[in-house]
Amino acid sequence: MLTGWLDDWLDLTLGGACVSCGAPGRLLCPACRGALPVDARRVVPEPCPAGLVPAFAAAEYADPVRRMILLHKERRVFALAQPLGLTLVAPVRAGLVSGGRTLLVPVPSRPAVVRARGHDPVLRMVRVAAVALRAGGADVVVCRLLRQRDVVADQAGLTAQERAVNLAGRMVVRAGGLRRIARTGRPVTAVVCDDVITTGSTAREAQRALEDVGLPVAAIGCVAATRKRVPLA
Ligand SMILES: [Zn+2]
Repeated sequence: MLTGWLDDWLDLTLGGACVSCGAPGRLLCPACRGALPVDARRVVPEPCPAGLVPAFAAAEYADPVRRMILLHKERRVFALAQPLGLTLVAPVRAGLVSGGRTLLVPVPSRPAVVRARGHDPVLRMVRVAAVALRAGGADVVVCRLLRQRDVVADQAGLTAQERAVNLAGRMVVRAGGLRRIARTGRPVTAVVCDDVITTGSTAREAQRALEDVGLPVAAIGCVAATRKRVPLA
């Protein structure tokens, strides 16, 4: 089995080598850590879902970031949450509106996927990003407002249109989270956060769910964007 071989290989290589360049030593050597993106660029899916708020990403979905995202998500290499979370800082910051508090809302995985993985990788990254943003003076809080119903089929292999149909109405806002926000009486906006933006349909569905309960969504912030995006200068 290829996956078995991959697991064996990863177990060997993760035992004291950089996940990016393979240099012996740390999980991410200082040079590769220093080479991670610290800026954000606007990305526009092609075709772009109607009404999608501005989306920002730090990197193209390619190695080493792709490899880090997968190792963190699928192989539970939790130490990568820190560098990945820091790459999310610039895309989220790009979407902040001045004044008021911003809720960083992670795109939820399906409950069955979270159970299978045993963790929520996007939430983990967003928490890291929030700490860094607050240290820089931004008024942000992580808010797990969304949950995804379990009936959504796997998105892989679907066209953009099929994804949109598959996702329509699938994300719901947690009532408890919404009540807590309402109690503060403060104006808030939301930035939807995810690891990878592909067609934008997942982000759009998250945006729809939040807007449907009256929460303004300022932007989408992602670690990486797949190559089909059209970068805007
Ligand atoms: Zn390295």
